[in-house]
Amino acid sequence: MSEPPLTWIDTHVHWDAPEFDADRDAALIRARNAGITHCINPAVTATGFKALQTLAETSAQRPDWPRILPAYGIHPLYVMQAQPEDLAQLETQLRTTRAVAVGEIGLDRFRGAPDFATQRYWFEAQLALAATHALPVILHVRHAVEDVIQSLKRIQGRSKKIPGGIAHAFNGSREQADQLTRMGFLLGFGGSCTYEGSTRIRALLQSLPSSTFVLETDAPDMAPAWLHGQRNESSQLRRVAETVASLREESLSTLAKSTGENVRCIFFTDHDGARTQSVDL
Ligand SMILES: [Zn+2]
Repeated sequence: MSEPPLTWIDTHVHWDAPEFDADRDAALIRARNAGITHCINPAVTATGFKALQTLAETSAQRPDWPRILPAYGIHPLYVMQAQPEDLAQLETQLRTTRAVAVGEIGLDRFRGAPDFATQRYWFEAQLALAATHALPVILHVRHAVEDVIQSLKRIQGRSKKIPGGIAHAFNGSREQADQLTRMGFLLGFGGSCTYEGSTRIRALLQSLPSSTFVLETDAPDMAPAWLHGQRNESSQLRRVAETVASLREESLSTLAKSTGENVRCIFFTDHDGARTQSVDL
């Protein structure tokens, strides 16, 4: 008897991005055909919440697409355009629709990033909402791991516990990885580990326990080495997985199993004796 084909969860992809406007349907079908069964799709602005919600609802009717699991939040690179009322809109969205997480939220110290105090205000306000709603968070962390850990500790000390989440496109040290893991976060890895020059991130991936990380594409961004400079898609996740499996010297099926389990664990674990979400993963 032949084994069933391997399936994958893309834990970070922006299907609602304008880069997919011309061929979203075809790209989603390609992803499903490549074995991607679920995609976690974080929002970046409040103006995009409704379109993302519609896309996620449509995916439930399309067995030829991956199921799109929406997260709602305001991305740190978009906080300058955000309006004070966006926070209330986020609260309503989390209360009245199905969301798997709050995201994409976080902190970014890369050059050209928005005013840091403004970023931190939005990040901590949204972390507090995640705690109130007992939802995991999808973190954007660029050159700001220590700042993110500080904010997490500040909010955890003040309100209910945040049920972990994913630190997407993780690029910190092993110590920082361990700190985030202890706080209930998984580390997301994607295109950057496919570049031979990414020696630090590759060494980190080789050393991490299987229980600590998940796979993502961040499409349309973060193209893998073989698509450098082009638009990225979820259908590439399988080949990213092959790279990760060979770096770790483990089988593709072992990797599919561990990363899938890890996602289910965070997004399905009961934190207060009840499932936080009823999405069928
Ligand atoms: Zn993203």
